[in-house]
Amino acid sequence: MSIEWKVVVGLEVHTQLLTQSKMFCACPNDYAGAEPNTHVCPICLGAPGMMPVVNAEALRYGIMAALALNCHVPPFSWFERKNYPYPDLVKGFQLTQYKYPIGAEGFIDIETEAGTKPFRVNRVHLEEDTAKNSHLTSFSGEHYSLVDCNRAGVPLMEIVTEPDGRSADEAVAYLRKLRDILIFLGIASGRMEDGAMRLEANISVRTAEEEAQGILRKRCEVKNINSFDVVRQAIEYEIKRHIRAYERGEEVVQATMGWDAENGRTVFQRSKEEAHDYRYFPEPDLPPLRFTEAEVDAIRLTRPELKHEIIVRYESSLGLDRYRAELLAQSRSFSAYFEAALGLFANVDRVANVLLGDFLAQVNDRGLSLDDCALLPVSAADIAELARQWDSGDLTGPQFKQVLPYMFDKGVGVEPAKADLGIRKAEASTLGPVLDEVLAANADAVQKIQSGNTKVMGFLVGQVMKATRGQADPKDVEKLLCGRLGV
Ligand code: ADP
Ligand code: MG
Ligand code: ZN
Repeated sequence: MSIEWKVVVGLEVHTQLLTQSKMFCACPNDYAGAEPNTHVCPICLGAPGMMPVVNAEALRYGIMAALALNCHVPPFSWFERKNYPYPDLVKGFQLTQYKYPIGAEGFIDIETEAGTKPFRVNRVHLEEDTAKNSHLTSFSGEHYSLVDCNRAGVPLMEIVTEPDGRSADEAVAYLRKLRDILIFLGIASGRMEDGAMRLEANISVRTAEEEAQGILRKRCEVKNINSFDVVRQAIEYEIKRHIRAYERGEEVVQATMGWDAENGRTVFQRSKEEAHDYRYFPEPDLPPLRFTEAEVDAIRLTRPELKHEIIVRYESSLGLDRYRAELLAQSRSFSAYFEAALGLFANVDRVANVLLGDFLAQVNDRGLSLDDCALLPVSAADIAELARQWDSGDLTGPQFKQVLPYMFDKGVGVEPAKADLGIRKAEASTLGPVLDEVLAANADAVQKIQSGNTKVMGFLVGQVMKATRGQADPKDVEKLLCGRLGV
């Protein structure tokens, strides 16, 4: 009889924080595209005798994240030196929180096939990023490495879970939700492609019996994963590898693995180091950090709303259905954009329909992003005006469809777009001759309506709209036609 293997996954996520400056010095944090070793100072270069100072903004972000992940924030915390020799670690140690992290024992609710389940977070701690090594080969074939310290000392937050994942799907659901939380808090970019967010998955398998008794087997850790796709592949690969080993009667060696993208497999990197290998000890140049309840409460009260909280608010206080609420809350910037438009024209359905219909189509067709709506050619005020004019009939449906793409093309508001396109509303008083024409040309329809078949009215309205090239207000037209036909 074959054994039914159960999966165990624990996750570690490193994310850079969007602070102005580095974790322990005043160097700018934003080093993207900068010349190597231009965003450095004696502190982040680890010159002897230099005194680090804790970045207060990073602390606040750490506490904010801990609270959003339902962790408790201990009354004090401190940094320790994690010692290891590697060229990307210029000081020879990394300042990190070990015994006293900034957050502990939280959870994130994730959706699984079996319903909502809490995925427990073991700890949230702050540390500093390392420098970046580039391994190169010269024209004459020599191998050499370059070290760029711009990244050294960038604030980094690590979030470690309990081994609560029971499948690759659950792991990915947790990671997606975590990334959304960090982005909505405004403390991380969530960008995995450039290493601002990095994933590690720990995987093991066990029998159903071991699961019932809470026994864990040896795990392997796959490091430095930079996409949700790869994390899923790596987990699935490791599950199969472990099962195969056990079924052959072999042991799994606790190890650190890398991901070989070319061959779609994990590769052995090194046997797993133990915490005591790092000789952690408290950083003597930094005082212990103390947080009062009032300080923590102040952060709790001012922390930004999370995606799932926005969705619930859109459902409960704006009366939107779940589908539209999720679309409108798909990015922090887009939800702010929607609410800004709503602030200027308080018609939820109209504004939502403009945004989720033609607006999203334009954004997608043009390959634009909703990550930062301030960069879009059309402002929230323009959207409010568009929705208002559409609602009042100042713009007809066909005119609306003409105006919006033009606004995206030229980056202009509704009125200039209408002026450029020669769009005017055909005033009801000027429609007489058109009505005459349409009624004369559609004697059949007229007769049907007059004999009680009012459904045909829509057809006549359409004919008038066509004759005015969409410039009349269909509501005006219908009223006029009813008057003429005496119905
Ligand atoms: P490190 O990798 O730095 O040694 P930890 O010992 O704290 O850190 O564990 C790292 C991660 O491995 C945690 O997310 C934890 O839940 C997970 N983990 C621990 N044991 C197992 C196991 N047997 N199977 C799967 N994941 C595990
Ligand atoms: Mg680890
Ligand atoms: Zn510096």
